[in-house]
Amino acid sequence: MKVFRADLHIHTVLSPCGDLEMSPRNIVEEAARKKLDLIGITDHNSTRQAEVVRQLAHQRGIAVLTGAEVTTREEVHCLAFLPDEERRLLFQHFLDEQLPVIPNSEGRFGYQALVDASDNILELEERLLITGLRAGIGEVEQEVHRLGGLFIPAHIDRSVNSIFSQLGFIPPGLHFEALEITRFVSEESARQRFGIAEAVTLTASSDAHYPQDIGAACSLFYMHDLSFAEIRLALLGRDGRKVMPQPKENR
Ligand SMILES: [Zn+2]
Ligand SMILES: [Zn+2]
Repeated sequence: MKVFRADLHIHTVLSPCGDLEMSPRNIVEEAARKKLDLIGITDHNSTRQAEVVRQLAHQRGIAVLTGAEVTTREEVHCLAFLPDEERRLLFQHFLDEQLPVIPNSEGRFGYQALVDASDNILELEERLLITGLRAGIGEVEQEVHRLGGLFIPAHIDRSVNSIFSQLGFIPPGLHFEALEITRFVSEESARQRFGIAEAVTLTASSDAHYPQDIGAACSLFYMHDLSFAEIRLALLGRDGRKVMPQPKENR
């Protein structure tokens, strides 16, 4: 069994709130500097920037989970990761269908730029990405799992856009591989506050919008390799594999 350092919640320049410095190149450089083995690219309601990051990171020996931070109809933020490029594109199609067409106001929300591996802007996403999808949390979860993906409700300890702030509880029948905590809470206090059993895996991630925040919180994955199958088994705590959240700024 090996130990891998992972930060599974990173925004790029495609997120309106993501800093313009969050280009694929800068993200990979910073992840390498922070000695991360695995990162997750999670722009709001779009997976479009993730594949370029994956290709760049591959050259540096860093694995990338490609996905998105989905805003459900209930305004709950959930991380979704797809197992391969084919299914990422299928999930992107689902997002495109479910995203209401509201134009982005760049002055108010910021730029949503899609860039290539050399930081050239390819296009500006015109639809506001931070709005809620038409699909509810259950529908999003089912679509992610139908495509063989991973579903992780995000920053559960946050007072906005978390499953507990929006719904007050975890809906019965909702399937998820883990729940994510921020760098501002310890694992113990999160479990106590929300009544989360030891059997449920918690991940800690940075939710970085600026390069310096990458790796500000991370999770240690105990598993055999960096394949999608191993990552899933680690999240599920199977056969000795496990995930240990490392939120750094415990309060
Ligand atoms: Zn969020
Ligand atoms: Zn986020």
